[in-house]
Amino acid sequence: MQQTKKYLPKQNHLVQPFPTDLFAIEKRIQSINPVKYAASRNFKDGAVTRLSPYISRGVISTKQVFQYIQSLDLPWSACEKLIQELAWRDYWQQVWKAKGEGIFQDLKNEQKPINNHQIPSAIVQGKTEIEVVDQAIEELYQSGYMHNHMRMYVASICCNMAKSHWLNPAKWMYSHLLDGDLASNHLSWQWVAGAFSNKKYFANQANINKYFQSNQQGTFLDLSYEEFDSLKTPELLLETEGFELETELPPIQQPILERSKKTLIYTYYNLDPYWYKGEDFQRILLLEPSVFRKYPVSQKCIDFALALSENIPEIQVFVGEFAELADMVDTNNLIFKEHPLCLHYQGRMESRDWLSSVEGYFPSFFAFWKKVKKEIAAT
Ligand SMILES: Cc1cc2nc3c(=O)[nH]c(=O)nc-3n(C[C@H](O)[C@H](O)[C@H](O)COP(=O)(O)OP(=O)(O)OC[C@H]3O[C@@H](n4cnc5c(N)ncnc54)[C@H](O)[C@@H]3O)c2cc1C
Repeated sequence: MQQTKKYLPKQNHLVQPFPTDLFAIEKRIQSINPVKYAASRNFKDGAVTRLSPYISRGVISTKQVFQYIQSLDLPWSACEKLIQELAWRDYWQQVWKAKGEGIFQDLKNEQKPINNHQIPSAIVQGKTEIEVVDQAIEELYQSGYMHNHMRMYVASICCNMAKSHWLNPAKWMYSHLLDGDLASNHLSWQWVAGAFSNKKYFANQANINKYFQSNQQGTFLDLSYEEFDSLKTPELLLETEGFELETELPPIQQPILERSKKTLIYTYYNLDPYWYKGEDFQRILLLEPSVFRKYPVSQKCIDFALALSENIPEIQVFVGEFAELADMVDTNNLIFKEHPLCLHYQGRMESRDWLSSVEGYFPSFFAFWKKVKKEIAAT
């Protein structure tokens, strides 16, 4: 019988640190290796960038990363894979912009069949008995990061094996990711579940073993792909639980504001330290309780965002709704960046940085990518 590796939870070496000072973040951009990336991104130890927590929190943009890649002066073919992944992020953002609240429902196809609207307890507790999956869940709780391929495995186990509707498991994962982004997250879950794609995503144990350097056998995923078609939900995934989390925001403090001074509004999705850098603005990080009630995140994520905000000199944190802030400043002098969670803001809206000028809803990524590539491959 095959010897399986022992599952060792709560090990510090699993923690992938995400420094929050700008110098370290810029250094991380400079360590990108597009060639190694293309060859290895699907593997556990592949040369992935781990930039998503900074991109999702709006500290850096996909455009900024692209410009760095361009500065390497490599042939387009050597960089295309990484640039394409950056474009996936822009793509999901454009879908969110176009569909708004629609991204919280099955977007293209109804997910079928569904057994429950909860999350398998084995996933929440990291007890699927698939060693590398359980380790990755433990790592998610500790570090706030999970490898892309592993996110797909976890989503597939929830939606396609346990037949849970994607929404609650997606909320659970979003709440623990430092790079939590409602578009990339929820739409990727829909993609795996066949709600934003025409085919559900399945991976078997052999696939997991190949990409995550394990050698396990006898799990509920140790099957051929043909066997998935007629598979009943494995016993281990039958127990499910709901998702409940209350975000603890920092204590409310009244910011010191001058009513008529120009004000920049930062959010959980916009912590851009380069925005009007050095210019005379009052700067507010607005954390709206209504947003976090709807889309809760863990303490780790809030702490991470607050630490990132320290790259913005003299920023003040305001925990309250936009309307309360609008009572304290002149909204004619208020500037914010366009984002689907800021539709109720008043003031001057500025655009975010994108890879290209391609906008709008494209039913498929590749239709979007074709246009983006045409524009940026020429630059
Ligand atoms: C179920 C599921 C949930 C996900 N949830 C999120 C999420 O909440 N937030 C998030 O930012 N990404 C999410 N992703 C996409 C992807 O997993 C992460 O962006 C990626 O793993 C981040 O690690 P990295 O920075 O090392 O990526 P790299 O592989 O180094 O890629 C570079 C950058 O390209 C972008 N990117 C790469 N792959 C994708 C992708 N598949 N979709 C969108 N953008 C991509 C990211 O901005 C990333 O930082 C999810 C994917 C799945 C399958």
